[in-house]
Amino acid sequence: MAARVGRNDFQILVLSGPSGSGKTTVVERLINESTVKLVKAISATTRPQRKGEVDGVAYYFLTTDEFVKRRDQGDFLETAEVFGAGYWYGTLKSEIQRAKDNQGWAFLEIDVQGALKVMEIYPEALTIFLQPPSLEVCEQRLRNRATDSEETIQRRLRKVHEELALADRYCYQVVNDDLDRAVDEIKTIIGKHSL
Ligand code: 5GP
Repeated sequence: MAARVGRNDFQILVLSGPSGSGKTTVVERLINESTVKLVKAISATTRPQRKGEVDGVAYYFLTTDEFVKRRDQGDFLETAEVFGAGYWYGTLKSEIQRAKDNQGWAFLEIDVQGALKVMEIYPEALTIFLQPPSLEVCEQRLRNRATDSEETIQRRLRKVHEELALADRYCYQVVNDDLDRAVDEIKTIIGKHSL
């Protein structure tokens, strides 16, 4: 089906969910399947590039100096030190503009701290929190990602608890108990907001 944008020509869609909620797959599916054109905002980060990640595709990988310089210049809509490990993440304002230029919605896949800031700046943003089916599934998914050390896994698990506590700040909460069902539910939400 051809991508279309509804009466709300421009919208910011924020999707958050703890590590292990299955967010990455949901994001990919939504970009491919949504009837509204979703332009994924490419975040900037100071964390090391993982194997297979391409600069400018997965993230804009910046040094800490570059990140701080751009933050001080006012280039970011929001920034957050996501896992308390000294690595910064942020949404560049230019990514919002890129979505507008491409006649799509800006699709932000960011953590809860960042999402709360976006809600302040754009109270009309459509915000969705993806709930893992259970904490056990979340932990298992985290552990299956062989690239992370035990320390990283523990830090990410602590973060899972913090994020779950703020889930009710979002417009919608969707449980990722079944991938197809969760994607359909989000597509329906998006559809409702594009009429
Ligand atoms: P990764 O596994 O890629 O190191 O970390 C992903 C985490 O950082 C996820 O929780 C994701 O939502 C968050 N994140 C990615 N980009 C941004 C961003 O631009 N801003 C904020 N606040 N969080 C981000």
